[in-house]
Amino acid sequence: MSTIARVEAFVVSQKLRRSFYFSQWGYDRRAICLVRITDTDGRHGWGEGYGPADVVRAGVEFFAPLLAGGDPLRTGALWQRMHARGADFARRGVLLAALSAIDVALWDLKGKLLGVPVHALLGGKRREAVEVYATGLYFDDEPELATRLAAEAESYVEQGFRAVKMKVGLGVEADAVNVHAVRAAIGERVRLMIDSNHAFSLREALDLVCRVEDCDIAWFEEPLSPDDYEGYRELRRRSPIPIAAGECEYGLAGFHQLFGAQAVDIAQPDICACGGLTEVQRIAALARAHHVALTPHCWGSGIGFAAGLHFLSSVDVLPGRLRTPEPLLEMDRTENALRDELTQPRFRSSDGRVAVSDAPGLGIEVEPDRLKAFTS
Ligand code: MG
Repeated sequence: MSTIARVEAFVVSQKLRRSFYFSQWGYDRRAICLVRITDTDGRHGWGEGYGPADVVRAGVEFFAPLLAGGDPLRTGALWQRMHARGADFARRGVLLAALSAIDVALWDLKGKLLGVPVHALLGGKRREAVEVYATGLYFDDEPELATRLAAEAESYVEQGFRAVKMKVGLGVEADAVNVHAVRAAIGERVRLMIDSNHAFSLREALDLVCRVEDCDIAWFEEPLSPDDYEGYRELRRRSPIPIAAGECEYGLAGFHQLFGAQAVDIAQPDICACGGLTEVQRIAALARAHHVALTPHCWGSGIGFAAGLHFLSSVDVLPGRLRTPEPLLEMDRTENALRDELTQPRFRSSDGRVAVSDAPGLGIEVEPDRLKAFTS
């Protein structure tokens, strides 16, 4: 039996050709912490953490000694060992992202050791391809922002996406103009979601809901501060637009609080932050018990996207019916070479769906020369 020989963290980064921003801050580069776990036979698994890459790397280095000599098949026990060591200091937040990165790498390695895809380990796939939505439509300093956003949204529809998500959070007046422009551009048949990244007060969020109610919005994501559970509950009660949140929530206990507050219609755990594949399964079970839909947040490299694909291919969706609704995975379309060039195979959507691999583990490999280029 092989044991864990090495846990390595790599910070990969890329300077963007064009910077962009959202309601909280701007991006002029992308940086991600990847994890590679190698066993004593030289086989390895890959994971990644969602959060500030250098801080995630410090977290991975904090947990790494706990894994030395461990059995890579015992993902649950290893998760528990890491969680117990971190719980006194960081029950939520970036240390959970580090734990998630390691957990995803362990699942990838476990699949490779057993010769089965991760979706088989999660209960088996229920669909051959996962429906995806395009995330883009960020802000820039273009003077005609609404026109630029409308053209970008049209390009996603031309690429076959049937659902797109745009940023709001500049201010309700400007946001309403942009949302109407995008809806007019994409027509009635494409789903449109809005995401403020917790930019608003309750009153502002209600104001925006009124202003865009005629735009058939599929969900309003992170309208309020992730700490404002009471505000979420009140907004959800009064909003005809479904409310989504969860990318800033961590662990089963965090989602227990979110669901207990009746805060959301749709939960959005990030597999690479909420506690990995081990924890997202528990969160999915809890969401099911609360009759809350699940649409994971996903904004990183091909590793995190592959984890999302395997997970969503294996979940069931409520309510059950002959033509069940399909779960949706986020497919970030912003400039990101770490997503497009680092891993093989490249993920492409066809008719708004991405096929799920049956190769062992997550079914992806990191290209060594690209890894070198992005870490230097
Ligand atoms: Mg979001």
